[in-house]
Amino acid sequence: MDNEAVRTAAAGLFPGGVNSPVRSFRSVGGKPVPVARGTGAFVFDAEGRSYIDYLGAFGPLILGHADPRIVEAVRRVAGDGTAFGAITPGEVDLGERITAATGLERVRFVNSGTEATMTAIRLARAATGRDIVVKFDGCYHGHSDGLLVKAGSGVATLGLSDSAGVPGAIAALTAVLPYNDAGALAAWFAEHPDDTAAVIVESIAGNMGLVEPSPEFLAALQRIPGEHGALLIADEVITGFRLRYGLSGLLPAADLVCLGKIIGGGLPVGALGGRRELMELLAPTGPVYQAGTLSGNPLVMAAGAAMLDVLADGATYRRLDELARHLENGLRAALRRSGVTGSVVRRGSMITLFFRDAAPHDYSEARESDTAAFSRFHGAMLERGMMLPPSQFETWFVSAAHSEAEIDATVVAAHEALHEVAQL
Ligand SMILES: *Cc1c(COP(=O)(O)O)cnc(C)c1O
Repeated sequence: MDNEAVRTAAAGLFPGGVNSPVRSFRSVGGKPVPVARGTGAFVFDAEGRSYIDYLGAFGPLILGHADPRIVEAVRRVAGDGTAFGAITPGEVDLGERITAATGLERVRFVNSGTEATMTAIRLARAATGRDIVVKFDGCYHGHSDGLLVKAGSGVATLGLSDSAGVPGAIAALTAVLPYNDAGALAAWFAEHPDDTAAVIVESIAGNMGLVEPSPEFLAALQRIPGEHGALLIADEVITGFRLRYGLSGLLPAADLVCLGKIIGGGLPVGALGGRRELMELLAPTGPVYQAGTLSGNPLVMAAGAAMLDVLADGATYRRLDELARHLENGLRAALRRSGVTGSVVRRGSMITLFFRDAAPHDYSEARESDTAAFSRFHGAMLERGMMLPPSQFETWFVSAAHSEAEIDATVVAAHEALHEVAQL
């Protein structure tokens, strides 16, 4: 099948031709590239054309595609049976690695980040006997009903459904505040001191493009909810094991932590963790029901353990930082030379080039980016064999399989692509 045949067949099978919406390229225009395989820093489309990949499957692939150590681990385990509905040595292995690296006393494995945040919220409601959850505009925590909510008209109001099919009564249990706004958080709790179960936040926001939290915001998150008997849920689905071995370290006071992406080695995974007494509110020890036929799946556990094995000594993170700094500097130089308005935000191996004059602090600033310029840039990069996330509001991921040669090629392509953007 050539690329067009895959797109056409997919369009006849899946709504919008995709199984997850951002893959459709709707926000950048152009035709989505069907990826047939990947190796290291490269992916190949159905016609065999190669691309240097910065999508990284939206976060899990910190070692690049088809890392032999992970492939071997999955092969080894697959021959011994792929699901049992029983406790297994494999889940103990990955569970031990994660608790040792994070300090979480107990974890529960689930199948996606969505399940992790959904369960964390159910747990927080049970623990506090309260219903309201606070989230931040532009943070994404998966697609459970109560988290598909957008801000109301005021700065601190209860939310409105951000998806058809989410009842207003569910959305009204979620308040949406601006990211990086410690004052809005304080004001929320001043007005609603007794009814908030939890505040959920991305430790570093990666789903409105990369937006860094301010020290004041991080401090407020760790102080204010607790003072009012609410729990803090750190969503580290992207950042867990991405910036260093373990949690990001930005929200050490979090009561519950959600993980996913990297800890599954590129297979479907999520996890939540926290203090023992809190986590033991989950069934079967406690009254909070949660379950999963394929949770702790042996293939996923083996892939995750193989991934963490490689990451454990920390050298990979130093290498990633070096590579990504090289990309950051190259992109900045390309911006300067092109005269295009843009700013590069980087933390470790996470990068976003915003078509905006300065790094955004929240979603309203991120949305001021010139998305038409991003779309042109994305298309021009794709023509040059560079696979970037197909939206201004996503983070690019550098993997340990990238090398200076790939970064240099990317920077050359970015010079040309930004020159094209400047022409238009
Ligand atoms: C990807 C993501 C999720 C959802 O994870 P899925 O596995 O896609 O359900 C939740 N939170 C954050 C911060 C994410 O980036």
